[in-house]
Amino acid sequence: MDVTQLNSLSALDAKHHLHGSTNPRTVIENGAMVVTGGSGIRIVDEDGKQYIEGLAGLWCAALGFDEERLVIAAEKQMREMPYYHSFLGRAPAPTIKLAEALSRITPAGINRFFFACSGSEAIDSAIKMVWYYNNAKGRPQKKKIISRLNSYHGVTVAGASLTRLKINQDGFDLPIDGFVQVPCPHYYRFGRDGETEYEFSMRLAEELEKTILEEGPETIAAFFAEPVQGAGGVIIPSQGYFDLIQPILKKYDILFVVDEVICGFCRTGNMFGADTYNLKPDIMTMAKGLSAGYQPISAVGISDEVFEGVLKLGDEKGAFGHGFTFGGHPVSAAVALETLNIYQERDMVGHVQAVSQTFQRRLHALADHALVGETRGVGLLGAVEMVADKSSKEKFDPALNMGTQVFEETKKNGLLFRAAGDTLLLCPPLIVMDSDVNEIFDILENALNTVANRI
Ligand code: PMP
Repeated sequence: MDVTQLNSLSALDAKHHLHGSTNPRTVIENGAMVVTGGSGIRIVDEDGKQYIEGLAGLWCAALGFDEERLVIAAEKQMREMPYYHSFLGRAPAPTIKLAEALSRITPAGINRFFFACSGSEAIDSAIKMVWYYNNAKGRPQKKKIISRLNSYHGVTVAGASLTRLKINQDGFDLPIDGFVQVPCPHYYRFGRDGETEYEFSMRLAEELEKTILEEGPETIAAFFAEPVQGAGGVIIPSQGYFDLIQPILKKYDILFVVDEVICGFCRTGNMFGADTYNLKPDIMTMAKGLSAGYQPISAVGISDEVFEGVLKLGDEKGAFGHGFTFGGHPVSAAVALETLNIYQERDMVGHVQAVSQTFQRRLHALADHALVGETRGVGLLGAVEMVADKSSKEKFDPALNMGTQVFEETKKNGLLFRAAGDTLLLCPPLIVMDSDVNEIFDILENALNTVANRI
């Protein structure tokens, strides 16, 4: 492709745009995919070609790409009050209403909400609240934060120190000090020969406790976890994992921060991943599905106990000295409120529980495919991990780019998803119907067959 052709958007993009999570060279050499529109679960590129968005954009476009009610909510709020902040004890109306609406659907004990604009900002805000809380409690040494291998918690300096993916840390001098990594509960990859899934979870719980004791419990402030690790490979927690680790966190007075940025808002078949896995968060972070991706907004929900700490130190310091110009933006908040109304009116939890039967059945049927080592999923989340050898679980030579090969095939046939190495990640808009799910898996299966025939 000739990217020097002026006036084409792709050429301008190649010249002027630095993309996130992209190899800049590929954009300069091949041009970008220019997305111009969308409807339902599909997006359209500049050539008019349609694609099913099998990852809901970046795990967020829960209501697809033409939900008129969200457009109306945004327009109405823009006319009423296009901007205001939440500093200095002020707040626009929809932001207050959103905080109250969230308190009704989040797990018991989470009653107060701080707003930001992205998942990463929510994560950084949660980390700062954890530190602030421990200062309020008079234990300034209790500050280290634990996260897990292959976790994704954003890309700001602190968030990317929690995110345990090489691509987000290498070259950026990350992680910064004070961030501790423990293993992830992925039984297929890390379970030992002869170890049952529950025994594996027990081993991870023991390793967590050992790490806490080695570091010194008086130095560990919080444990951050996604209910299902999303970008790191849709890793479904191994059997009993969270039941085993939650008491350990309690025992050492370590805050449990549940990152619901992907799992929140019906994705796993309940309102939150915390409901699906019986988690008792002290703090939870939310974004993406909160506004179905139509506006940038995120939230940090905190327990009454954490809030007490914030209140106390805020008194001492004169203010809680944290907040963003656009945090709780009224247009974003109005859109989020309308999104929550839609989830409730359309019984989105019930819909996901029903349609995920087909989704999970079709997903797991791929486990028999010659190229597939493991399929895993819950609700409308799924992953297909490709392997070179099914019995030894040996991975393909990365030079073969197997995941990308499958992606290129499905793209030709009108399906986009995310290939994380050779693991294929699926997270379609929540509004998919059985027929859409069948179409997604028909295209994916054909692509796997085509790629299998090449090797
Ligand atoms: N936490 C999780 C679990 C995520 O999946 C993401 C984004 N994929 C983030 C945090 C960061 O969100 P953002 O990209 O909006 O900063």
